Amino acid sequence: MTVMAERAASPLAPSAPATSTEVFETRESAVRSYCRAFPTLLASAHGTTLVAEDGTEYVDFFSGAGALNYGHNHDHIKRQVLAYLQGDGLLHALDFHTAAKREFLERFGREILEPRGLHHRVQFCGSTGTDAVEAALKLARKHTGRSQVIAFSGAYHGVSRGSLAATADNSLRKVAGTALGEVTHLPFPVGPRGHFPTLDLLEQFLSDDLSGVDVPAAVILEVVQMEGGVYRIPDEDLRRLRELCDRYGIVLIADEIQAGCGRTGGFFSFEQAGVVPDLITVSKSIGGLGLPMSILLIREGLDSWKAGDHPGTFRGNQLAFVAACAALDLWKDDAFLDQARNGAELLRDFWESHPLPGVEVRSEGHAIGIDLTHAGGRRAADEVVAWCFERGLIVESTGRDKAVLKLLPALTMELDVLRYGCELIHEGLRTALSH
Ligand code: PMP
Repeated sequence: MTVMAERAASPLAPSAPATSTEVFETRESAVRSYCRAFPTLLASAHGTTLVAEDGTEYVDFFSGAGALNYGHNHDHIKRQVLAYLQGDGLLHALDFHTAAKREFLERFGREILEPRGLHHRVQFCGSTGTDAVEAALKLARKHTGRSQVIAFSGAYHGVSRGSLAATADNSLRKVAGTALGEVTHLPFPVGPRGHFPTLDLLEQFLSDDLSGVDVPAAVILEVVQMEGGVYRIPDEDLRRLRELCDRYGIVLIADEIQAGCGRTGGFFSFEQAGVVPDLITVSKSIGGLGLPMSILLIREGLDSWKAGDHPGTFRGNQLAFVAACAALDLWKDDAFLDQARNGAELLRDFWESHPLPGVEVRSEGHAIGIDLTHAGGRRAADEVVAWCFERGLIVESTGRDKAVLKLLPALTMELDVLRYGCELIHEGLRTALSH
């Protein structure tokens, strides 16, 4: 076969020379972002390795911003998805009852929710995380008849209008081009300046009828702020927040979109505090292979929707339900659980035993925040990201002034690859901090 004939026969027949990225410059919107920090053209991926079109391999310490907790194309999950496709399983079904959705609901309830004492209903939302946040805020307001919401500095909840109002990033908020009202941000109890007595402040506001602050419909938080730089609210503060919400009839919303699905230890990040949120948003890794899926978990008695109150065309990604069920299999697999536990331990031990002057490290399972605020700041963080990328490892920076390196390796990453990645990042840090 001639080269041209071979190309024509390929379903991925390239019309431009391999490695060309010209069309992205000329055709794709200026809004694109990650591809600017990581200028490569990716072609395939398996496990924790990404492969570029020119054959370059990258170790993935980013995992699709937390959408790939089980790695890329996990063999078991992929097999289930392929079998479903082969059997002409339904792909799109609005919110019809389907066999795939039934299996997900039954198993998610039985295997994840009930053992954790979570008697929540499941609302299927539009396919991205932000829609689950929209639904949560809307439901809390509908349920309480109040409009104000309290969120926290450092939080990220999405960029559609309702969720953006709760997102704290001022540069993203500016892009809205309109007022983002009805959300008050309080300092998160932990942040760059240490502990803040937020719960005292909140209690003071709520208990003082001349406080000037309306009792809110909801408090929304990431128990572990991820885009904010990997900060976990102390368990005691979370318990106090739960108690205040109970006392004043406020809906407590936990946004588990990035910190959930095992990323920060436990299936949900709030488990260790023994607290049950009223509404829980889950997305990203719930879809197993990175397939779009977004759900809202609603505590009993709070499901005050009427039929059709929050519609959406893509609330029924059947392939994601199949992948999500296959991923649930892993939570019963000792080999997976051991690997995840050992991986988290390795990460914590590595960074505890390799301190660097001025660098603060926050470890939450498979989420590590390496804070360079007092050691080179954004300049150093940018350098480490670029240095690692040149050597075949993808890791991103986040937080205030993008001065925190956020390590998000898959829970399935082999221990020797984890160690290798940490050593490389550590070398990058030493290099960046040496000048
Ligand atoms: N909440 C949190 C905690 C997130 O990390 C994100 C995404 N980074 C979102 C909400 C929004 O999700 P999506 O980008 O899928 O809309």
